[in-house]
Amino acid sequence: MSTKPIYVTQPVLPPLEQFIPYLEQIWENKILTNNGPFHKELERSLCERLGVEHLALFANGTLALVTALQALRITGEVITTPFSFVATAHSLLWNGIKPVFVDIDPKTLNLDPMRIEAAITPHTTAILPVHVYGNPCDVEAIQRIADDYNLKVIYDAAHAFGVQCHCGSVLSHGDLSILSFHATKVFNTFEGGAIICPDAKTKQHIDHLKNFGFVSETCVVASGINGKMNEMQAALGLLQLKHIDQAIERRRVIDTRYREALRGVPGLRCVERSGQTVDNHAYFPILVDPDYPLSRDALYEKLRDQGIHGRRYFYPLISAYPMYRGMLSARPDNLPIAEEVAQRVICLPIYPALSDEDVDRIIDIIKG
Ligand SMILES: *Cc1c(COP(=O)(O)O)cnc(C)c1O
Repeated sequence: MSTKPIYVTQPVLPPLEQFIPYLEQIWENKILTNNGPFHKELERSLCERLGVEHLALFANGTLALVTALQALRITGEVITTPFSFVATAHSLLWNGIKPVFVDIDPKTLNLDPMRIEAAITPHTTAILPVHVYGNPCDVEAIQRIADDYNLKVIYDAAHAFGVQCHCGSVLSHGDLSILSFHATKVFNTFEGGAIICPDAKTKQHIDHLKNFGFVSETCVVASGINGKMNEMQAALGLLQLKHIDQAIERRRVIDTRYREALRGVPGLRCVERSGQTVDNHAYFPILVDPDYPLSRDALYEKLRDQGIHGRRYFYPLISAYPMYRGMLSARPDNLPIAEEVAQRVICLPIYPALSDEDVDRIIDIIKG
């Protein structure tokens, strides 16, 4: 029995010797950043892998979110979910935009389209939903509302690398989607991110914004930012892509092992997939109901005492943090489902290097 602590995830890294030739090339050509050869190649390769037409790489997912909002000139109020990582709403505050929190659907745990309309005001300019755990939002319902009220839609797709639904890549919905390649995500470049763009013109504009607004040596067209991915990150991304299918396949096997073993455990529910045809198994969330012998926090602590560090994603809700909780839409009585789910959820460890024995040990602790 291993006594090493097990965390909710462990970053995937390729064999180090495979990375050396990429570094030698960078040392040789002295191009470290600014849309270098690895950067260009990774943009092309990711478009192909993800089944999208245009993509702009970023230094991280949060800068991609902040820049996406700038690119579409979003102002005023934006409807978003409280059940996400703080970067979703923080990107709005950084742009001086007011987040308006809307409750989630109890099944998909994503922004509930039925509740969006009631939150629209004359100041609303966009909707910022999240494909939580890689589970696709109800993209058609959201688009209908956006069309009716002339709103933009930006998807925080940080969890949705490679996810497909019945109409292809989940990343091709809305006006823009953003990805994160952070160390803890399914596909990592240490840190990194991207904006999926609908056309070449939008990508070009975003490429200007991520490089201080430069369009040429002497011409600056916008108060852009430095959001560029560097050549080391891009080189690593190219190498990671060679191993990604294998990594997701191992995640799938672990997902199935948990799901089969935990099915029928009284008081436990595994969060169901929400209609994706290709999944990435980024997370394994379970919900601890009152008829389970322990409370959610008691189970979380029991696991932790045995070296298993699950995470209560997403608890607390974003709306509960001090910079949001004064807002009317952040009141708990406005968000009953999200409040409830945040009290019940634990994400169990899932990553390619997690062994079957460790999965079984986690299952035994939960069942025991
Ligand atoms: C990870 C994450 C981000 C932020 O991405 P970074 O690359 O860490 O900046 C944004 N939104 C969600 C939902 C995330 O999980």
